[in-house]
Amino acid sequence: MIRVRVHPHRPVLLRGASLAALLVLVPGAAAQAQDGKTLRVRFLDVGQGDAALIRTPAGRSILVDASTPDRGVGIRDALKRAGVGTLDLAVISHPHLDHIGGMKTVFTGIRPLSLLDPAFPQVSRVYSDLTKYLQDQKIPVRVARRGMVLSFDTGVRLEVVAPEMPFLSGTRSDANANSVVFRLVYSRFTALFTGNAEAETEERLLHSGQAMASRVLKVAHHGSRYASSGAMLKTVGGRVAVISCGKDNEYGHPHTESVDRVWKAGLEIRRTDLEGTIVTTSTGGEPAVGPEIAPATAPIAARAASTRVTLRTGPGTRFTVGTTVPAGQWYVTDMTSSGWVRVRYDNRFGWAWASGLKKETKPLIRVTAGTLTIRTGAGSTFPAIGKAYLGARFTKAGTSGTWTRIWFGGREGWAYTGSVAP
Ligand SMILES: [Zn+2]
Ligand SMILES: [Zn+2]
Repeated sequence: MIRVRVHPHRPVLLRGASLAALLVLVPGAAAQAQDGKTLRVRFLDVGQGDAALIRTPAGRSILVDASTPDRGVGIRDALKRAGVGTLDLAVISHPHLDHIGGMKTVFTGIRPLSLLDPAFPQVSRVYSDLTKYLQDQKIPVRVARRGMVLSFDTGVRLEVVAPEMPFLSGTRSDANANSVVFRLVYSRFTALFTGNAEAETEERLLHSGQAMASRVLKVAHHGSRYASSGAMLKTVGGRVAVISCGKDNEYGHPHTESVDRVWKAGLEIRRTDLEGTIVTTSTGGEPAVGPEIAPATAPIAARAASTRVTLRTGPGTRFTVGTTVPAGQWYVTDMTSSGWVRVRYDNRFGWAWASGLKKETKPLIRVTAGTLTIRTGAGSTFPAIGKAYLGARFTKAGTSGTWTRIWFGGREGWAYTGSVAP
């Protein structure tokens, strides 16, 4: 492997037939508030799209995709909350709207030092807009190709395994099929980011002989049935699968077929549509994974007795004015005596006027051993089977033998209980 040192302000792409792999030291922004040991990956809750933030132990920042245009401000805010001032790298998995739509907005507040792009020829306004913006701002763009290794100064590296030339063609979506796929490595921790890979992408990867084993799998294409083949999942192995998709999205993501395959491969399934932002942390070994909920704001359960609860806009609120929510359960994070409640609904936080709301008296339960398996089918509104992690909290609505009735992520249904406690 050849080590290539890059001038701090002039990152370049070096290419040569003799280079089996290309190691590039990525020039760094000032390190920002990390403990020097922990790598943190946030799979941001961005609706129907992708956006992930990688923070290295030394505080360097990598953004992978930026969802749709309407999510740009939210992503920029999330990055700022995470202490990101400059992005060391931004990655475009592929030039579709739900992956690059928010980028320009993010970049206007948080400048990337460079950008990694599959350079797949794509004619779309948002892509040409973004390309022009990068040129105007003199933000260097690197072309991602198989064999490229980007090295960060803390033993963290990003190994690009796709795309490779010639581009795949004649697939369902060639833009998807030629997504940037990379493995993030930090000591014994590994995570595979698959963009919107298609079946053909996976086929090519499986025959490429590249290392793909990973502890965390970012599931391809929002859990589409056209990816995540059994063979691919077997090769990747791993323990946790993260699916990024919007609640009740129009594509029906994640598709039951792929969720079943992931499930059968033995991976724990985490979903942004059910849990919000998912955070993975690792000090170089087995990762800890869970939804991003600070202990101080652990939700209390509440249930609307009336059929209409009106959500408000304004300071501290991200709801659309006049939205009403059906009777049911959701998370209330704060309650005032005057009838205003701070709620989490549809993965947004905000204030609601909720005359029909009463504090739920049913207990919260916690998974204390094994796993909690969420079921679909009669009596459950969960769209797919899934496993809950150790320490997960649910509202317990009843039991039937070894079955527990739970509310989770705004849905209600039956779960097979490993071991739970209040
Ligand atoms: Zn997509
Ligand atoms: Zn796509």
